[in-house]
Amino acid sequence: MQKGEWVQPRRDDMEVDNTPRLDTYFGGKPFVTEEIEIHECPICEKSMQFVCQLLMPNRKNNNKKLYAFYYCFGCLEDNIEGTYAVNIYANPSEENMLTELEYASEIPYADVRFLPAYDIPDWEYCLDSNPQFVRKLEALYGDKAEQTYMQLQQKVEEYAVDTGNKLKGYPRYLDYRDIPKCPRTKQPMIPLIQMECMPQLNMNWLGSHSSYLVLFKSPTYDEFELRTIDFGDLEEPDMFEDTDEDDIFDI
Ligand SMILES: [Zn+2]
Repeated sequence: MQKGEWVQPRRDDMEVDNTPRLDTYFGGKPFVTEEIEIHECPICEKSMQFVCQLLMPNRKNNNKKLYAFYYCFGCLEDNIEGTYAVNIYANPSEENMLTELEYASEIPYADVRFLPAYDIPDWEYCLDSNPQFVRKLEALYGDKAEQTYMQLQQKVEEYAVDTGNKLKGYPRYLDYRDIPKCPRTKQPMIPLIQMECMPQLNMNWLGSHSSYLVLFKSPTYDEFELRTIDFGDLEEPDMFEDTDEDDIFDI
């Protein structure tokens, strides 16, 4: 089990867009400096959409780093993972922030709140990533091992909040073998931020309302890779259809 952080867009704070800011949020205007500005998509040459930025503390040296994630929603057909870019600002400061930005993302500004969340990987993920653990379970429960594990997973998910959007944690819906490796260390990358599609924020990965995106980061370096998956073939109720509008952001 792994403690991740759950990222929830906050509706109360969406009314007023006071971006750019040196903070963590979705949409609106991003933090940019004169050195590192808005990204252009290398395919269509238009400005990419600013999706979100994360202000992360570095435990080792007390410094902070800001990661701003951009995505081109217009260039999906030929590029199954979508075109994206990550701006990295080491020790960002408000003094260096460009405040007079004409650019604003098509993703509306939404503040976020972080909640701790416990996370347990899918059984298939365990089979690939931790066969030793699976063998131990099988020694204990025989051919009921998978069923027992699934019950445990369900219990954890009942207690925990919905971790559709989260920082770190286990990647969901992904085959362990699909997890990208750091090109420099060959270690498996770790999910930095995992995002469901959020139609209310104009965020539909792969152009689909039932898609899911994981931005992976090397544990050691600022190397990134994207994995997107559309689980639209699975039967999925429209979670916004029967929801009171006021509850949309409290799912
Ligand atoms: Zn593009």
